[in-house]
Amino acid sequence: MAFPDSLRAAYGETLRSIEQAGLLKRERLIKVPQDAQILVEFPTGSGDRQVINMCSNNYLGLSNHPAVLKAAHSGLDTRGYGMSSVRFICGTQDIHKLLEHNLSAFLGMEDTILFSSCFDANAAVFEALLDENDVMISDRLVHASIVDGMRLSKAKHDTFKHSDMAHLRSKLEAYRSSQRKIIITDGIFSMDGDLAHLDNIVDLAEEFGAMVFVDDSHATGFIGKTGKGTHEHFNVMEKIDILTTTFGKALGGASGGCVSGRKELVDMLRQRGRPYLFSNTLSPVITYVTLEVLRLLETSPERKDQLEKNTSFWRLAITDAGFVVKEGISPIVPIMLYNAKLAQEFSGDLYNEGVYAVGFFFPVVPQGQARIRTQLSAGHRQSDLDRALDAFIKVGKKHGILGLTKDQLIEKYGM
Ligand SMILES: *Cc1c(COP(=O)(O)O)cnc(C)c1O
Repeated sequence: MAFPDSLRAAYGETLRSIEQAGLLKRERLIKVPQDAQILVEFPTGSGDRQVINMCSNNYLGLSNHPAVLKAAHSGLDTRGYGMSSVRFICGTQDIHKLLEHNLSAFLGMEDTILFSSCFDANAAVFEALLDENDVMISDRLVHASIVDGMRLSKAKHDTFKHSDMAHLRSKLEAYRSSQRKIIITDGIFSMDGDLAHLDNIVDLAEEFGAMVFVDDSHATGFIGKTGKGTHEHFNVMEKIDILTTTFGKALGGASGGCVSGRKELVDMLRQRGRPYLFSNTLSPVITYVTLEVLRLLETSPERKDQLEKNTSFWRLAITDAGFVVKEGISPIVPIMLYNAKLAQEFSGDLYNEGVYAVGFFFPVVPQGQARIRTQLSAGHRQSDLDRALDAFIKVGKKHGILGLTKDQLIEKYGM
């Protein structure tokens, strides 16, 4: 027997220790399409409940949008279900090339290559483009998929303190003699909702002759004047060398991703990107839908406008209600509680009040930085946000935290 009782016991023990530390991730069952309101199965036996969804990345409300569903049906009808091949054998349809072309135009980059996820895109880039004479200098809070992607590369790796430009400069100085240098950052950081200082980063990149890599997964479709992303927001569109993003968030939310950037870099990835060479790309359905989503972004800016309206309302209302909020402009709005147990209880209480918002604590965020992360969607109606606000206030009162400052919160509940 290849799986003796001793192995079962050892894995069981690890799982129990995860649970005892209060870190076991549980999944709630949604019984309807992803949306601003969803029907969710409560823990066994207590029945189903309609909740306001404040924890999805469905920023533009497109996951279940009629135009998206319609495009999915036509994609299925005209190009079938599966490709049964990788791109370079017989896995490329005309619509894959068209989508790459249209993404380049939308993102303002020279060329684009599709991946079945942004995780795969990030897994491809560093290994394919860099060697042992190069250095990767990444922000300390970049996404896990970038961390994994960097692990696959032979290039040296170093980090700079989160968004600390002086620290980044000192690292660039230290690696002045490296063959190739690349600065690596998220466009918007998922836990705090803050934007990378891309304006400063591209200046430093020019000064030191470094390439710039940005993962804009939490920005594509709604940040910047026309929703192109953080590079548009900072007006540095032509200065980004590699941009990766996902179609699994604002752009319909199914799956898929891409690398968009300098033509030679994209060509290299077509030859050397292992997740591209050895794994199927997007299904025709997702490809078709993503084409439609890009068209929607250009023809109906009202969804982006609605998201901005909802975000401003929520940021102001929740601050006025007496919560400590991480300031910013993005639809990721973290409500700070600092204490992990409080965050967990608060999230549970919100759930009972019909609001689905997840508590995050160590190790997902630094120790003592526990929070409820709320995320806005263009799909939220004013009545949804009013109800959510009422629930936050009710639960805030229950725990006696409304109007407390950060220091008072920490004094009352600890970190
Ligand atoms: C969500 C996310 C990813 C992963 O995207 P998938 O397409 O779901 O693999 C990668 N990077 C960042 C910054 C993300 O937020």
